[in-house]
Amino acid sequence: SHIQPSNHLRILRATYAMQHNVPSLNDKSLLKDQTYINGQWVGAKSGKTFEVHDPASGKLIGTMPEMDKEDTEAAIKAAADALPSFRQLTGRQRSKMLRKWYDLMIENADDIAKLITWENGKPIADAKGEVAYAANFFEWFSEEAPRVYGATIPATVAGNRVYTTKEAIGVCGLITPWNFPAAMITRKVGAALAAGCTVVAKSPGETPFTAAALAELAHRAGIPPGVVNIVTAMKNTAEVGSTITASNTVKKVSFTGSTGVGKLLMKQSSDTLKKLSFELGGNAPFIVFDDADLDVAVTGAIASKFRSSGQTCVCANRLYIQKGIYDDFAKAFTEKVKNFKVGSGYAEGVTHGPLIHDRAVNKVEAHVQDAIKQGGKVLVGGEKMPNLGSNYFQPTVIRDMTEKMVLAHDETFGPVAGLFPFDTEAEVVRQANDAEVGLAGYFFSKDVQRCFRVAEALEVGMVGINTGLISDPAAPFGGVKWSGFGREGSKYGIDEYMTIKMVTLGGM
Ligand code: NAD
Repeated sequence: SHIQPSNHLRILRATYAMQHNVPSLNDKSLLKDQTYINGQWVGAKSGKTFEVHDPASGKLIGTMPEMDKEDTEAAIKAAADALPSFRQLTGRQRSKMLRKWYDLMIENADDIAKLITWENGKPIADAKGEVAYAANFFEWFSEEAPRVYGATIPATVAGNRVYTTKEAIGVCGLITPWNFPAAMITRKVGAALAAGCTVVAKSPGETPFTAAALAELAHRAGIPPGVVNIVTAMKNTAEVGSTITASNTVKKVSFTGSTGVGKLLMKQSSDTLKKLSFELGGNAPFIVFDDADLDVAVTGAIASKFRSSGQTCVCANRLYIQKGIYDDFAKAFTEKVKNFKVGSGYAEGVTHGPLIHDRAVNKVEAHVQDAIKQGGKVLVGGEKMPNLGSNYFQPTVIRDMTEKMVLAHDETFGPVAGLFPFDTEAEVVRQANDAEVGLAGYFFSKDVQRCFRVAEALEVGMVGINTGLISDPAAPFGGVKWSGFGREGSKYGIDEYMTIKMVTLGGM
């Protein structure tokens, strides 16, 4: 029988775990050093592994299989073998599996959050928020699965009857980044499984343990072998990617990551003419008009700019503040940033964690240095934090930003808020749209006509008005321009994994 450990024992265990850099999971079997293919826990055929490090301490977390072409082909074959029977299930049957997977994620939310904090670095409260958000995609798509409707269409040819059905597209390749180790995967897998597809997901090299824990829960949820396969790789990432794109068995690739890798995958996919959906980089404008509620705008900016230390694709990157409210905004915003506590995501009271690795820190530093050189004034922060470790950068606010600065055109992906002054609505809309990418955009105003006008004028896939947080499983997520195409979540998300079949019956 299961004996509850005493408090004393629990504290001892927790201390041990901290000293050994191991989060004390309630369910230790959620921590893996193998990956999940065809319903089995396996290593790479070559026997190779790669190391994963905790971004907060730099310490070794563990290893995962360094998979290659051969392993990826085995995963694709497993997905292909599982497809015929899985796509035959009713939507209701697949719905129940997704719902069970959702329930298991909620039951194990604390453990999954610990894994996320451990390998990604975000504070544990943010990690818990991610688990809830991630699980919601399974819940949402479990509800969509039984509601995939076709249409009956009045034919223009006399005597014909026309109708459509939607069919699962087939085996899907899913490639996701490290910044949301759970949610980026569930957002794709939930929709794919609801549609009746089977998947080969390449988990991010930086954050493979969360993905493995999700696979363990898929297994417990009774999802049949071969339906969900996870390929892990670090050094061999490009080889795994090109195996997926070259495969004629894989009918669709859904990718979330940088614009550069998106372009490469699109080229690679041309020979096999895959259906694609891409969620790529952003460079979100965040506009505060003179007529905005200052407190609401400051709160929105804190949430949008500094969530996950600025490492989300919908993070505000360029903050445009109208001149009448500029000084007040700068002051109130900077005060809030001064109250942040930076440190390990597990530590008490920490609001902001490390960045993912030192390359990210160096990019942030380069953006800050460039802004300073060109006349930007640092109101708070501006430097690395070597006393905490090599992956930390101070939450930073810089005023007097100009369009010539690198930060105006390149996604910083870090905890730096640059404040750009502007005069008129026309001027700020032009600046906001002066970007190759167009993912999210935000603005704050109490003028209802302006709200409609600016929402329509922004060249982005998602607009937040008087809010800095827009992600919702019920709402379509995606971009325009070089932020990609396709939508995730919502009633549209499932269509990305289906094809429409038209049937004409003649001779009536
Ligand atoms: P990245 O493009 O380097 O990597 C993303 C994923 O692609 C990782 O799993 C990586 O291992 C894999 N990858 C890299 N090279 C590959 C290749 N040649 N073939 C196949 N797979 C390959 O991006 P990143 O630096 O890890 O993530 C940050 C970027 O992702 C930012 O630009 C951010 O805006 C973007 N992002 C976008 C969204 C969105 O929904 N639009 C969400 C999160 C992150």
